Amino acid sequence: MSVVGIVPAGGSGERLGVDRPKAFVVLAGRPMLDWSVQVLASVCDRVVVAVPAGHEEPPDRVIGGASRSASVRAGLVAAPEADVAVVHDAARPLITRDLVERCLAALREGETDGVIAAAPVTDTIKQADGSGRVVRTLDRSTLWAVQTPQVFRAGALRRALEVDEATLARATDDASLVEAAGGTVAVVQSSPENLKVTTPLDLRLAETLLELRAPQGV
Ligand code: C5P
Repeated sequence: MSVVGIVPAGGSGERLGVDRPKAFVVLAGRPMLDWSVQVLASVCDRVVVAVPAGHEEPPDRVIGGASRSASVRAGLVAAPEADVAVVHDAARPLITRDLVERCLAALREGETDGVIAAAPVTDTIKQADGSGRVVRTLDRSTLWAVQTPQVFRAGALRRALEVDEATLARATDDASLVEAAGGTVAVVQSSPENLKVTTPLDLRLAETLLELRAPQGV
């Protein structure tokens, strides 16, 4: 059973306002990407990273695609041996080994095609129309804020990624593609601390949390 980590790290970092791809921004002393790769490497047989062109180093650093999901597909194509894929965004450097192991255990013990890390929603979530008028209030008790890692039986993920580029570009996570392909997915509870670095504020928060975690890092 080969477990391969797939890390989409091909984003530009535009929203972060930085001078290099987001995954390469230095965070608490090392590139953001390295925090995730270190944790995944401690659990997976191999880790493949999808990077922007110019940063590739085959066989484990391959060129990503035009969208996040296209980058995941490029990573998975480079890992034909994978029986299980652990997909994790480079933009979530606060991943822990415990979280990956709980997702893998749930996949092993359950009957779903995928298991995804998610945190229960604490805000009230409302749906609004284009003018900002509230249409309805959703039942928060059933809502989850979805994160990565997302772990899949590799065959199910490969089939789900066999869609056109526009469909890949619309997908905001891998599980939604697996669901659309008829696959089943379950959530495993994670912490909001496993945040995604999108804005300069996220960057400062992530750095503070990583520094508090030192020296063990994972
Ligand atoms: O842009 P966003 O933060 O949603 O990206 C999530 C993850 O997908 C990041 O780790 C980013 O590097 C990655 N990504 C990618 N290829 C793209 C766009 C984003 O690997 N074309």
